[in-house]
Amino acid sequence: MCNSSGKSETGNCVRKTRGRSMESKVRDNIEYTLIRSSRKTISLQLREAGEKGMIGKDRVSGEPGQTGKGDVTVIVRAPRHMALRDIDAFVERHRSWIERRTAQLAQARQNKRVISDREREEGIRAAKEQIPRRVAYFARQMGVTYGRITIREQKTRWGSCSSKGNLNFNWKLMLMPEEILDYVVVHELAHRREMNHSERFWTIVAEMLPDYRERRRRLKEWGRRV
Ligand SMILES: [Zn+2]
Repeated sequence: MCNSSGKSETGNCVRKTRGRSMESKVRDNIEYTLIRSSRKTISLQLREAGEKGMIGKDRVSGEPGQTGKGDVTVIVRAPRHMALRDIDAFVERHRSWIERRTAQLAQARQNKRVISDREREEGIRAAKEQIPRRVAYFARQMGVTYGRITIREQKTRWGSCSSKGNLNFNWKLMLMPEEILDYVVVHELAHRREMNHSERFWTIVAEMLPDYRERRRRLKEWGRRV
């Protein structure tokens, strides 16, 4: 039984179960990890290291991330009392989405370019020079302050902003078009006003970059390549 609030992804409500097909006995089962909690809706997520693609109510969304090694895990988040057969049926209804995305993720892993030591060294050098310049430019425009700027190679993030205003950027942004780097810079600086991803936060981003949605989409694409 599952009595805890179960909100965390690694909470004690996690268990592995086999999804049984309601429509066809011939098809393979889809294995998934079920997380029950006090939520009211069911959602489905595919995860591999650093990659998030979430669907709920047939909606696909997610944060940018790099693809890593390892298998794809299907994670189902469901209300505490939802019947297992209904959960199985939900997973089965999304079978083609799961299969398509799994194939895409495998493809993305193969397409990932190999970065030589020299390319990395030059990229980091370029990042240390150019990123602070873009930060200074946009901070002035947005009227915000910031602390230290650190350039790193992070596994799953393109940028971050601490509560003290210290900024972190992934040098691999240098392998992408400038509009995408600018989006990440503006995104992190917008956190100097709003430390969340609320509507107010996105309004601040949009004031600076009206086409930020397009840039964000492209960042996701590029993220799979570099
Ligand atoms: Zn953010």
